[in-house]
Amino acid sequence: MKVALVTGGSRGIGRACSVKLAEQGYYVLINYQSNETEAQNTLQMVREKGGDGEIIKFNVADQEQVETAIKNWQDAHAGEYIEVLVNNAGIRRDQIMVFMTNEEWRSVIDITVNGFLYVTRALLTPMLRKKFGRIVNMVSLSGLKGLPGQTNYSLAKGGIIAATKALAQEVARKGVTVNGVAPGFIRTDMTKDLDEAELKKQIPANRFGEPEEVAATVAFLCSKEAGYITGQTISVNGGLYT
Ligand code: NAP
Repeated sequence: MKVALVTGGSRGIGRACSVKLAEQGYYVLINYQSNETEAQNTLQMVREKGGDGEIIKFNVADQEQVETAIKNWQDAHAGEYIEVLVNNAGIRRDQIMVFMTNEEWRSVIDITVNGFLYVTRALLTPMLRKKFGRIVNMVSLSGLKGLPGQTNYSLAKGGIIAATKALAQEVARKGVTVNGVAPGFIRTDMTKDLDEAELKKQIPANRFGEPEEVAATVAFLCSKEAGYITGQTISVNGGLYT
């Protein structure tokens, strides 16, 4: 059994990644924090594609929840290991710096930065032992370019882009690749409050992207064929920023 874990797999880009990885033969662990109904819907979509998986609840920013959930899964599946990790869970708490609250600052960093540490560290040892692993971090245009109103989010995503490069060099010898995917504006719950008609004027492709377009890039980076690509961040942004 080839197993993949997608954090934040219940909705949006994580859902599309779960379905795409299932199409590629993965048994998919669909992580969610609170929205069990949507996580079950993702699992249903995975099964409709002829795949299988299960939902797995934990808050990526809570070390104990992460480690307990992963240990419980490992204990129940001796001999299996999670060979693909998509660190996708994320939130936005946009605010200009002068009005930024500590809570807005910390919540974004906890989920994006600490979540990356807790989940990745929990899965890395078996990948290194088995000499095969694929880690894909969902970052953002905001982490490459910096966007006003998003100092918290740009910091967190920019930090993960740098950590992707660092970790890639730590683990490359063991057949584990670490890459980032940086979406621009993608049509999900996270962007539903944005004015698409206005914003798309700035996008050379003249439209928001679809979650499936991001998932296709993730699936490629998770494939065996992508084994010599590591430490990279690939933009999926309709030409918005190059
Ligand atoms: P979304 O539709 O808002 O979905 C967010 C997902 O993350 C949900 O599955 C949610 O679970 C999960 N999640 C949130 N906090 C979590 C936590 N603490 N622990 C575990 N799961 C958690 O977001 P999206 O647009 O698909 O974004 C996915 C990723 O792409 C994020 O990292 C985001 O920053 C990045 N991104 C998105 C865009 C875009 O335009 N949409 C652009 C650039 C980057 P529940 O369902 O349980 O709440």
